[in-house]
Order: sequence, then C-alpha cells, then structure tokens
Amino acid sequence: LEKRVTVSSEEISNLRENAIGAREEEVCIRENGAYGREMHAQQRESSALVREQEIRDAHISNVAQEGFNSKLRKANEHLVVASVQLQILAEELERSKAEMTHLATHDFLTDLPNRMQLFDRIGQTIALMKRHSTKLAVLFLDLDRFKIINDSLGHAIGDKLLRLVAQRLQSAIRGSDTVSRHGGDEFVLLLSDVGTTEALAVTVEKIHKILTAPYCIEGNDLQIGATIGISMFPKDGEDAATLIRNADTAMYYAKESGRNKHKFFKKEMEVREVELQGIEAGLYQALDKEQFVLFYQAQISLENGVITGAEALIRWRHPSGGILLPACFVPVAEHCGAIAPIGRWVLREACRQAKSWLDAGLTLDVIAVNISAREFENDDFLENVRSVLQETGLTADHLELELTETVLMKSFECTAVTLHALRAMGVKVSIDDFGTGYSSLSYLKRFPVDTIKIDQSFLRDISSIEDDILVNAIIGIGKGLHHHVVAEGVETPNQLAFLRKNHCPAVQGFYLNIPMIAEEFADVLKEGIPAHILNEL
Ligand code: C2E
Ligand code: MG
Ligand code: MG
Repeated sequence: LEKRVTVSSEEISNLRENAIGAREEEVCIRENGAYGREMHAQQRESSALVREQEIRDAHISNVAQEGFNSKLRKANEHLVVASVQLQILAEELERSKAEMTHLATHDFLTDLPNRMQLFDRIGQTIALMKRHSTKLAVLFLDLDRFKIINDSLGHAIGDKLLRLVAQRLQSAIRGSDTVSRHGGDEFVLLLSDVGTTEALAVTVEKIHKILTAPYCIEGNDLQIGATIGISMFPKDGEDAATLIRNADTAMYYAKESGRNKHKFFKKEMEVREVELQGIEAGLYQALDKEQFVLFYQAQISLENGVITGAEALIRWRHPSGGILLPACFVPVAEHCGAIAPIGRWVLREACRQAKSWLDAGLTLDVIAVNISAREFENDDFLENVRSVLQETGLTADHLELELTETVLMKSFECTAVTLHALRAMGVKVSIDDFGTGYSSLSYLKRFPVDTIKIDQSFLRDISSIEDDILVNAIIGIGKGLHHHVVAEGVETPNQLAFLRKNHCPAVQGFYLNIPMIAEEFADVLKEGIPAHILNEL
C-alpha cells in the first residue's frame, strides 16, 4: 500500500495525460467512425440516386423503344397496305387498259370487231392475199325490216335481235374470217381466200338462210331479211375504204331491186355513185341560186267539185338537167341532210304563196306541204313552223303537213308530242301514202290526225276485187274516225267513178289537175275545175 501511495505525482500526471490522450484518441476514433459512416451513408445515397437515375433512364429508353417499335410496326403495316393497293391499282390499270383497247376495237352492243379493227384486218388480209395471189370478198350487209321491229317493239328487243344476228353471222363464217358491225343494222364481213364467184354466192346464200330463220325474243316470233352488196379484192378495190364503199354501193343497188337480195359490185354502179355525189353537191348551191320551184296540185271535193286544198310539190330547175322531179333528188337530200334547209324553204314559200292567194281573194282551205322524216325529227321543227306562220301571216288552220306512216312510226312518243303540239297550234296533219307503210292501225286513234291520203297504188288496179275492198275499207276507217279522206293519183274517169261510188270525200290526180306553177294554179283557183270534168263528179 505504501508503495501505492508513493506513486509520484509525476506518475499520476503521466497517467492522467495518458488517460486524456487515450480519451482523445477514442474521441478521434469515434469521430473518424462517424465520419466514415457518414461517408458511407452519402455513398449509399448517391449510388441509390445513380441507380434510380439508371432505372428511370432504362424506363425512358424502354418506352422510347416501344414507341419506336410500334411506329415501325405501323409504318410496316402501311407499307404492306400501300404495296397491296399499288398492286391492285396496277392490276386495275392493266385491266382498264385492256378494256379500253377492247372498247376502241369492238362494238359495244354485239362485241364484234368495229370499223377500226375491220379496216386493220382488211389491210392485213390484203397484204397476205397479195403474197398468195388469192381473192378476198367484202360483204356489206343491211338488215331488212329491222327499223320497223326496232320502232314498233322497242329498242331493247332491237338490241337483242342485233346480238342474235351477230352470233348467227359468226357461226356462218370461218374462224379466219371477220364479222364486224358497221353501225345501226349494218354489218360488214370480210371473207378471205374465197374461190370462184359461184362458190362465194353459195356462202352468201348460206348467210341469207341463217339470218332469215325465225328469231324468238321475249315471246315475239320475228323474221328479218338481209340485203348484201359484195366487192372483191383486187378487182373492185385495193384498199379497205374502197372495198367497203363499193360493197355499200352494191348493197344499195340490191335494195333497189327488191329486198333480201345480194349483188356483186360493177363499175357502172360507181358511175351512178358519182352522179349522186354530183346531185349532192348541187343541192346546196341550188338553194342559193334559187333553182327550186314549187308546183301546186289541187285537191277537189267530190261532194261539190270545189278545190279545197293544194299540195305543194317541189321541182328542181337544174342548170343542165331540165326540171327534175323529187324522186331524183329528195332521197339524196334526205340522205345528206340538205333536206332540212330545203324543207324550210318549201314551207316558207308554200305558206307565202297561200297567203298571197288568200289576200288576192281566192278561196283555199289548206296548203299541203310534204315533210320528210329528217325535217320532222329536227329539234327546231315546231319552232320553224311557228315562225314561218308568223313571218308569212298565214293562219295555222290553212296549213296541212303531209307525213308518211313511216315517219309517224319512227318514234311513237316523240311523234305524239309533236303532233299534239301542231294540233294545239291549229296546224292540220295528214297521213300521206296511207296503206303503204308498215304500221299499226292503233296509231290512228292515238295520234291527232286530220286527213288520210289513200296511196295511188290502190287505184292502179281498182277493177280487182281486192283493191276495191281495200279502198272501201280505208274510206270507211277514215270516215269512221272523222278524218278527211283524199284519194291520190286519180288518172282515169273509171277511177273517179269508182271513188264517187264509194263516197270518197276528195280526190287528187292528173285526170283532174296536173301539178303546175303558182301563176297557172292561181287561174285554176279563179276558174275552178273545167266544166266537162265537173260533170263527171
Ligand atoms: P306525194 O306526196 O305522194 O305526192 C304525190 C305525187 O304523185 C306527186 O309526185 C304528184 O305529181 C304525183 N301525182 C299526182 N297525181 C298523179 C296521178 O294522177 N298519177 C300519178 N302517177 N302520179 C300523180 P311528185 O311531185 O313527183 O312527188 C313525189 C313525192 O316526192 C311526193 O309524193 C312526196 O313524197 C315527195 N315530195 C314532193 N315534194 C316534196 C317536198 O317539197 N318535200 C318533201 N320532203 N318531199 C316532197
Ligand atoms: Mg304528199
Ligand atoms: Mg302521196
């Protein structure tokens, strides 16, 4: 214990210092530990932040990737759709190109090669035939009676008939030959490598036979004929246009000699064709040069012998051909369209003349003017009638328009509308050449008609019992329907007596009065029908 007590103060202070040093050291260690912990915590925190940032970045990149992927998918889908559409469009384009080529070379109704392709094929065949020095034939075929069927039974049946005709024609020829539709009811056939004319005539007969066999369309039994004109290479032409034109000319001649016939082209026909072209060219000049003139023929009442009407009949004072009758130029004028201006001139001139006779105190119930189909169909037809009446001052009830059955039957609806408009204006209408056209009698009760003109063909042979019955029947129909009736083409006292016996209301013909110029006709109007004829009435 002493010993312990004897611990020097120095030692104690050393101990104390040591203890303090140890404590300081401990504090220092503790501080270091705390610092280390703090650093550690900071490190942990910052690595957590880094991790969080990493997670956030990864998420953002995932979203971006997904967005990108979906956009890519969509773009891909669009690309697929677009390329499919492109493919469809390309196919459609190809199809429409093929269709357009087909349409440009085929007839829409029958699907036969059209005129363009026919020209092409004739050209090719000619080249081939030249090498093999063989013949080819071009047949121009026109259907007989087609217009009548088309007009009376309607266009739908007409179209079906044309399709059947096309099929039959195709069945009648060899695969190497061509049938084409030229337009309307006209077909052109190209027969290559034909033998003799006799052999060709046999083929043509075969075509005739096949075409004329009956057709049954929607319960209608129909029969048609065909007229065929034939031209041959190399004799009748060396190119498609000439061969077709000459076949057409031959067809025209075949028609003139009766229907359902065929004719081979001959050089003389071309001469006539040139003549027709000359007439065509002259027609237009004739109007300007005032070469047309109207003749007038009286219509006479059988009840009292009075002149009731005058028919205006056109004549052409041809500079080199004398006075031409309408048969020489009216059909050409109708064909080339010149009939429209000529018809307008006739109407104006006839109305002007009638008004001047009436103003001079002469008596005339009506002036009758012939109207062609092409005039009647013109859009401005009614307007022209109206303006001519206005210009000339003739009252409508003094004008009678003569229309043939064929004109009336062309289009039932249009005809009815025009006839009713004429009736509303007060203009009269007569049916010319009654009984010669193909028509249904029912139109008589549906169309507003004033007069029936019995065609002169019925009077030609009135001693025959059939004509006697027919003339009587026509007079009966006319009177029964309260129409005025005029018999045309009275040439003999016999015919006159016959008509009087059958109570025909009025007559017109050379026996009573020949067509004459206006000045002479004015005298007839003044003096009346000569007494010796009046006595027979
Ligand atoms: P259409 O209308 O039937 O005229 C009657 C025709 O018979 C006239 O012939 C007339 O001269 C003739 N004729 C009169 N009496 C007799 C007779 O007793 N015996 C004979 N055999 N014939 C007689 P045209 O003047 O040669 O006229 C023929 C046809 O031409 C007319 O027949 C008519 O369809 C047409 N036509 C005449 N003038 C015109 C016209 O201005 N415009 C139009 N579009 N056609 C006309
Ligand atoms: Mg007439
Ligand atoms: Mg007539």
